[in-house]
Amino acid sequence: MKFGGASLSTAHGMLKACQIVKEYWVKQRVVLVVSAMKGVTDRLFEVATLLENKQIKKAFFIIDEIKKTHIKTLHEVDKRLQAVKIESELINLISRLKNFIKNVSNKKITRARIDYIVSFGERLSSPIVANALEMCGMTAYPIDASFIIATNSRFGNAVPLYKESQQYINQILFPLIKNNVIPVVTGYIGFTHGGCTTTLGRGGSDLTAAYLANLLSANALYLWKDVEGFYSEDPHKNKKAKLFTKLSYKTARNLAKKGAKIIYYKALTPVEKKHIPIYIKSFIYPESSGTLVAD
Ligand code: ASP
Ligand code: MG
Repeated sequence: MKFGGASLSTAHGMLKACQIVKEYWVKQRVVLVVSAMKGVTDRLFEVATLLENKQIKKAFFIIDEIKKTHIKTLHEVDKRLQAVKIESELINLISRLKNFIKNVSNKKITRARIDYIVSFGERLSSPIVANALEMCGMTAYPIDASFIIATNSRFGNAVPLYKESQQYINQILFPLIKNNVIPVVTGYIGFTHGGCTTTLGRGGSDLTAAYLANLLSANALYLWKDVEGFYSEDPHKNKKAKLFTKLSYKTARNLAKKGAKIIYYKALTPVEKKHIPIYIKSFIYPESSGTLVAD
């Protein structure tokens, strides 16, 4: 299952996500894919632009704001003293990002470097979510997808490679899943043969979740959203938008290609290949049935 940035934007949202996961986890094995917290990827793209314009101070200011938001959310979710272990992990990640920026500040800002910078949103959210799951009585472990999702080197829009990724998933994810540990995988990111971080395109966490569903032959893929499912139009903008209860992969793909933002259109292919049903559901009203996308 995958939670998007909107569901992870507050401590309340994260705890709600944990409740949902727990309901499934007591009955079946769960793999989680997480996006960056809401707005963080956009801010990291700003950091990359500032770096290109040699405005390092401003770039660091944004990074410090990102750091504060994550640490604040971490402690709002987990009031125990031991949360400081996760805090030091977050600080570590932020230092890695800042050091990278310092090192490349006089170099050309390539697409590969931008991918590395914008990958930090998911890298920061996954340890907080894994810790929240643990706090709610589950066993979870954050996984950086730049060790499991092998891709080509089309930076900014990389395509995952099934065969190569399968091997890493067998080695890294299977032992966790077998022992009922929930892997909390960073969406959106992967890595090239040469070991560089790649990203799968904006909204790419859906694609990570879809690939994992395929490679793990999952029973179902759940996408938890801030709306009740797949609508004919954006329900935030048009109150008369109609909720689809069921859609074929083909119709969903066409609607997504035409601009429906609820799902990244590329995410439909890996699940369709294995006839895995997709449930698009609201994390605010998880009991409502949402939209089923299937054959
Ligand atoms: N965080 C990435 C983005 O904002 C990926 C995603 O949210 O699916 O595009
Ligand atoms: Mg996002």
